[in-house]
Amino acid sequence: MRSKIVAGNWKMNKNGTETEALLAELSAKLPDTTAEVMVAPNFVNLAGAVRSLESSTIEVIAQNMHYAESGAFTGEISADMLQNVGVKTVIIGHSERRAYFGETDEILAKKVIAALAKNMRIMFCFGEELEDRKSDNHFNVVASQLKNALYSLEANSWKNIVLAYEPVWAIGTGETASPEQAQEMHAFIRKSITEAYDATIANNVSILYGGSVKPNNAVEIFSKPDVDGGLIGGAALVADDFVAIIKAI
Ligand code: PEP
Repeated sequence: MRSKIVAGNWKMNKNGTETEALLAELSAKLPDTTAEVMVAPNFVNLAGAVRSLESSTIEVIAQNMHYAESGAFTGEISADMLQNVGVKTVIIGHSERRAYFGETDEILAKKVIAALAKNMRIMFCFGEELEDRKSDNHFNVVASQLKNALYSLEANSWKNIVLAYEPVWAIGTGETASPEQAQEMHAFIRKSITEAYDATIANNVSILYGGSVKPNNAVEIFSKPDVDGGLIGGAALVADDFVAIIKAI
């Protein structure tokens, strides 16, 4: 049985004081849910967030990591450093990392391998650009992103993988994939994993949708059978909105 997950990617928002305030509000308002709830503050606030949420069911996850174990990589953070402050899950492949920091499928494949080697759970993000969708190339793009970064992995690694399909044209734009478009792509992803591995792996992996999920569209998107939750950007920065999205699952 795959998990339902709602994760908030805070990106480069919230200083330490604001992080603590948002976490306190979220903890106080967290509804009863069987879904896993995760938040991804920036690197410098991870340790404090883990401490603040010690007695909470909310998991603190990281937005990124480097693939090397250690060394001369100024400004970077390793899997070991994340684990050492109590972080067990890391987002890899967010479209902003791909677009603004030159992260290619090849680099992402190395990050995936490095995180799995440390037994970390990965939330792997991918999705097509608007041009790809307009030219009806979106299924090919998604299939190749998955193949290049994930399909060389051993079957056993998939228990530590969560997927987040995020069409780039829907991220931070207020434009959302329709629930039907999300379902169509999620079903395609499951079929692709079935072909590369098998139906058990495909049916056990949680596939989240990301891209302008808000309290007013979450119920409909989450009602689709292959949508197992959401990766939330903007709406995760407002406790009441994030809580409403958790309630929608
Ligand atoms: C994201 O950045 O992962 C995201 C989905 O952002 P937003 O919800 O703001 O579109």
